[in-house]
Amino acid sequence: MDRYAVIGNPVEHSKSPRIHALFVRQTGQDMRYDARCAPRDGFAAAVQAFRGEGGRGANVTVPFKLDACALADALSTRAQAAGAVNTLTFTDEGIAGDNTDGVGLLRDLIVNLACPLAGQRVLLLGAGGAARGVLVPLLDARPAKLVIANRSSARARELHAALAAHGGQAAFRAGGFADLAGDAFDVVINATSASLEHALPPLPQGVFAPGAFAYDLMYGEAAQAFLAASRAAGAARCADGLGMLVEQAAESFAIWRGVRPDSGAVLAELRRELAGAAR
Ligand code: NDP
Repeated sequence: MDRYAVIGNPVEHSKSPRIHALFVRQTGQDMRYDARCAPRDGFAAAVQAFRGEGGRGANVTVPFKLDACALADALSTRAQAAGAVNTLTFTDEGIAGDNTDGVGLLRDLIVNLACPLAGQRVLLLGAGGAARGVLVPLLDARPAKLVIANRSSARARELHAALAAHGGQAAFRAGGFADLAGDAFDVVINATSASLEHALPPLPQGVFAPGAFAYDLMYGEAAQAFLAASRAAGAARCADGLGMLVEQAAESFAIWRGVRPDSGAVLAELRRELAGAAR
């Protein structure tokens, strides 16, 4: 049986094993997928150990996406642009690195949630690994405007400078949260981890244009404070990041197995399970 895993630290909370188990049930692929915790200073050794045990590939989560990028022998274009890797494939030639976070977000927004990005004013909150992973696919979706805002405005500007060439026709800029005063957006994407600290990005009034969509990369309870604050500030539609999680997993599964699972059915099942657990 082919073996895959998600490698992170901590990783016990990860929904990836459950998502891939549902993909396996659906597609009948002969594989198993587990969670493996690597020591914070031992990512490369953990990957090599898993490979030595016959592993065929791995997803990579916090805090190892940059280590995975450094470890890979070959990078996909989107992993190169992101400077971060969440999908490793072990081949005879070595370790191939890819990044499926961006395509996962776009598929969730555009296909699952019918939230188009072309011609829209998009605000991306955060400049960490997740923001980096989704930025180029967001720009490729041809928004009219894309602004990166981060607590550390210098970090937002660095990210902007690194990827400015991908801006195309979009009005593309970066800064701190206070720099957003006077701007309005159709789509606001929270890619910060502020909710983990029970904090909210301090957005000036008027950031949500009439009919705006608010999206949080976090899911479940952790996303609710940002989504509630967005609604109160004028967002008309809101969604958490569970769909992105399922879609990025589906893309990894397709890379490894050459089979695309029905992600919509798995997302619905996962939502039922989360709602059941919350009761
Ligand atoms: P990083 O640690 O790389 O970056 C954290 C970001 O959050 C930085 O921009 C940081 O700002 C900002 N931040 C942290 N605390 C606060 C705060 N109190 N107020 C405002 N901003 C804050 O994390 P990642 O980018 O890897 O992950 C971000 C989130 O995205 C995580 O919660 C993760 O779970 C989620 N995620 C979801 C995925 C999905 O499939 N749904 C996929 C990938 C990630 P600064 O630079 O100033 O420190």
